[in-house]
Amino acid sequence: TADNAFLTVTDLRAGYGAAKVLHGVSFSVEQGTVCAILGPNGAGKTTLLRALCGMIKVRGSLVLDGDEVSGRAPESMARLGVAHVPEGRGTFAPLTVEENLRLGAYPRRDRAAVDTDLRRVYDYFPILRDKQRDAAGGMSGGQQQMLAIGRALMLRPRLLLLDEPSLGLSPLVTQELFGIVATINQEERTTVIVVEQNAHLALGIAQQAHVLETGRIVLSGTAAQIRADEQVTRSYLGIQ
Ligand code: ATP
Repeated sequence: TADNAFLTVTDLRAGYGAAKVLHGVSFSVEQGTVCAILGPNGAGKTTLLRALCGMIKVRGSLVLDGDEVSGRAPESMARLGVAHVPEGRGTFAPLTVEENLRLGAYPRRDRAAVDTDLRRVYDYFPILRDKQRDAAGGMSGGQQQMLAIGRALMLRPRLLLLDEPSLGLSPLVTQELFGIVATINQEERTTVIVVEQNAHLALGIAQQAHVLETGRIVLSGTAAQIRADEQVTRSYLGIQ
């Protein structure tokens, strides 16, 4: 219900200059839940996450934990606890795993807690502990995605935005990654918005889902409702 909404998006419009991509998107996400955004290529899913983290200019309203935050810059959104893991991950290849993780904590003022959080990230992703002194660029795609999520966790996010975490990863690695995201959501009560082509996976960890097509939400419901929708099944879930 709207009463528990951690994020409320109302009539959000955004694009790139003259290219309008989002044409009035409205939805809300409850505190501590996982929300999946599904939809075809070019629907505007990536643009939606960019709009939510302040990377691009928006019209409409974004209310985060009761405060209107539309128009804030990315750094300001980061300080409010919005962490964005972009498509393509955005880790720094020549830096070590640990240097990348420490960069994730840069907007925070409570420096003392950073070492504690580093240990927490290593507990979620033991492979990152093993490779803490290795250059990020030498790791596999799955390990780099774990690093990107680990770096976002260093912000102690209240809202985690994940853009296509499964991109380019094997089914097994993707499964493991989604399992860890579900654990983080449960243990930290972190609210998560995940954009995914792999609808099965996303619906497996989400409570709510929205289908975006050409910049508009065309279907919203619980994960079970979306999974049961015939059109969605045909378009995004394939034959099981
Ligand atoms: P995909 O799964 O392919 O990433 P998507 O649903 O995430 O698709 P977006 O990446 O948000 O879709 O793209 C929506 C539209 O915005 C597309 O028509 C795309 O060409 C356009 N677009 C994306 N990024 C830019 C940009 N930086 N400048 C101009 N147009 C852009």
